[in-house]
Amino acid sequence: MQITELTGQIETHLTQLDARTAIHSDVVAPFLALQESAKKAGFNLQIASGFRSFERQRLIWNNKYAGKAPLLNKDETPLDTEQLSELEKLFAILHWSALPGVSRHHWGTDIDIYDPSLLPQGKKLQLVCSEYQQSGYFFELNQWLSENMGTFGFYRPYQTYQGGVAAEPWHISYRPISQGCLEKLTIDVIYDLINKNNVLGKSLICQQLPMIYKQYICNIN
Ligand SMILES: [Zn+2]
Repeated sequence: MQITELTGQIETHLTQLDARTAIHSDVVAPFLALQESAKKAGFNLQIASGFRSFERQRLIWNNKYAGKAPLLNKDETPLDTEQLSELEKLFAILHWSALPGVSRHHWGTDIDIYDPSLLPQGKKLQLVCSEYQQSGYFFELNQWLSENMGTFGFYRPYQTYQGGVAAEPWHISYRPISQGCLEKLTIDVIYDLINKNNVLGKSLICQQLPMIYKQYICNIN
């Protein structure tokens, strides 16, 4: 994959699955096979979020940084940004959101999954852990995935919280391709990209980049 693809700046590596979802062209067949197998087990496996562009991630990031979107603590309670130092704010955002250019959703190999037919009537998908844990409505789907997705090449990079990004049981990754993506995404590539673009907190990000790289980008399951 080219660097511009890897960082979500162009979309030549993608195939559009429907009006709102694109994934990596080489992940289409494995995903459809996983979906078919899930169907046989009684699940309607669907993608809540596939590819996300650099620009989209930049907007998400800047909105959080500017206080236009709520900032959450690790226990999902709202944080008072006025009380935080710049550095605390940076890490609070990184717990939930990737830096623009380093989201695994740029690659098209990583998708957030759910089963719309298991959502109770009137409930909106939130993508929070309680939905996927025991007594959550996606618990059985989650267990089925744990047992079966490996056969199709998928795994969970954010299976458990280990001091970086929050646990994301809904986020699965096609390992045969995503592994190589992570190796290509060097500190120099990220530094260059953040520096060139309008990303809020840029100088602090660049200063903290070696730590961010280790704790939030490479620190996966
Ligand atoms: Zn995700």
